[in-house]
Amino acid sequence: MKRILWFRRDLRVTDNPLLSLEGEVLPLFIFDTNILTKLPKEDRRVTYIFDQVMRLKSSLQSLGLDLMICYGDPVEIFRHLEKEGFDEVAASGDYDSYARARDTQISMILPFNFLQDTYIFAPDEILKDDETPYLVFTPFYNRAKSLFSKAHLRHYTPVKQTLLAAHYKKITKIKDNVVSTLPLALQSLGFDESRSEIKILDANLSALEKKLPIYAKERDYPAWDATSNLSLKLRFGVLGIRELLRFLVEQKKRGIDTEPFFRQLVFRNFYASLLYYFPELAWKNYRYPFNGIEDQGRFEAFCEGRTGVPIVDAGIRQLLATGWMHNRVRMICASFFTKDLLLPWQWGEQFFGEHLLDYDAASNILSWQWSAGTGIDPQPYFRIFNPWLQAKKFDKEAAYIKQWVPELRTLSAKQIHDERCMLSYHIEHYPKPMVHHKEAAQKALEYFKKSITKGVEHA
Ligand code: FAD
Repeated sequence: MKRILWFRRDLRVTDNPLLSLEGEVLPLFIFDTNILTKLPKEDRRVTYIFDQVMRLKSSLQSLGLDLMICYGDPVEIFRHLEKEGFDEVAASGDYDSYARARDTQISMILPFNFLQDTYIFAPDEILKDDETPYLVFTPFYNRAKSLFSKAHLRHYTPVKQTLLAAHYKKITKIKDNVVSTLPLALQSLGFDESRSEIKILDANLSALEKKLPIYAKERDYPAWDATSNLSLKLRFGVLGIRELLRFLVEQKKRGIDTEPFFRQLVFRNFYASLLYYFPELAWKNYRYPFNGIEDQGRFEAFCEGRTGVPIVDAGIRQLLATGWMHNRVRMICASFFTKDLLLPWQWGEQFFGEHLLDYDAASNILSWQWSAGTGIDPQPYFRIFNPWLQAKKFDKEAAYIKQWVPELRTLSAKQIHDERCMLSYHIEHYPKPMVHHKEAAQKALEYFKKSITKGVEHA
C-alpha cells in the first residue's frame, strides 16, 4: 500500500494514528494558499504553525521518516501527487465547512481514509436513539459519559513504515501546474516572523496537574492562572486528545475530581458535532432573526479595546497582545458586543477568528451564537450579562483589568467597577463608557422582541 499521510490538525508523532498504518508512505503538510493569502504578513498563528511543522519534520526524521512541505491549493497539489500512483490519502477528520468541501474534492482524486483523532468522539458518534444529533448540551454530555470507554484511550504506536522518495529539503510550491521549490523558511510563504512572548505556548500536562484540583473553583477568575491554556495545542493536535484523556484517568485514580475539566472537553466535542450537522451555523442564526445593527464606529472602538468598559477593554487588549483571552472574559466581551452594542455576531466571530491563536471554527462560531442568543442551545436572548457586575464578581481586585488597561492602575477596584464613577471621571487617555449598560440592555430587549414579533432586520 502506497499512502500519503496528510498531517493537518495532528502536528505530532506521539500517539498519531497516521503512523500506525503500515506500508510505503509520503508524510505531507500543506500550507494552503486559500487560507494564507487572506492573512496579514506578520501572523502569530502562521509563525506558530510553521514552528510546529518544523518540529514535526524533525520528530519524523528521528523515526526514519521525513515531511514533505507543500505550498499551494490542496486540490491542485493532490492532482499533481496522484500521478505518482498512490493508493490512498490518510488524514484525521477535519470538520468545518471549508475542510469538508476541500476533502470531498480530494476524495474524488484519491481514496480518502479518515481517521478519528481531533476529538474524544467523532462528531457523528454521539446521537440520540433516533440517530439525530443532540441539540442540548446536558443530554449530549450524559450520553458521552455513558459511551466513554477504553477504546477512547487507545494509544497508537508507530509501526515500521517505508519512506517514499520526494522533495524533503525544500518547500514544494505548486501553482498553475508549475512545480518549483522554495527555501525551507517562513519567509518563503510570504510571512515575517511574529515573536511575541506567548505564555500559552508553554502549557503542558505537568502544569495542568497542579491546576486540576483548583480548576472547578477558580477557572472563572481571569487574574488567576487556573485554566489549562491547552486550547492552542489541542487545536493543532500538538497535544493529542487521547494523551490528555489518559492523563485525566490517572489523575482520577489519584482521587482528583477531573469531571469539570472533562466536561469542557465534551463541550468542545458538542460544538464540533453541531457544526458538523449544521454547517450553515457558520453564518446563519439557528433561531430568531436578530441581525444586529451595523455600526462601524462601535465596532472599531470594541476592536481597539476602547469601549470605556474596563473588563471588555482588558479582554480585547489581552487578545491583541497574546492571541488568547480567558473564557469568562470571552463570554463577557461577546455578550457586550451582541447585546450592549447590538452588533452582528458574525463581525465579532470574525474579529476573534483573526486574532485567536486557538481559533477553532466550531467553538468560536457556536460560542458567538450562544452569546447572541441565536444558536442551538443558546443563552436566552433576554439574559444579558452586566459587564460591571461580572467584573466585580470575577475580577474583584481589578488585577486583571489593571494588567491590561494601565490607564486605570491608579484607580481603586471599587472605582473601576462602578459605572457611574467611570462615566463621571475624566481619566487621562481612557474613554468614558460608550454605552450605559442599563439603557443598552433595555434597548437590546426591545430590539430582540421586535425582531421576534415582526421578523424585522433593524430596530
Ligand atoms: P480550559 O478551561 O483549560 O479548558 C480545557 C479545554 O476544553 C480547552 O483547551 C478547550 O479545548 C476546551 N474548552 C474549554 N471551554 C470550552 C468552551 N466553552 N467551548 C468549547 N471548548 C471549550 N475555544 C477554542 O478552542 N477556540 C475558539 O476559537 C474559541 N472561541 C470562543 C469564543 C467565545 C466567544 C467564547 C465564549 C469561547 C470560545 N472558546 C474557544 C472556548 C474557550 O473560551 C476556550 O477553549 C478556553 O478559554 C481556552 O482556554 P483553556 O485551554 O485554558 O481552557
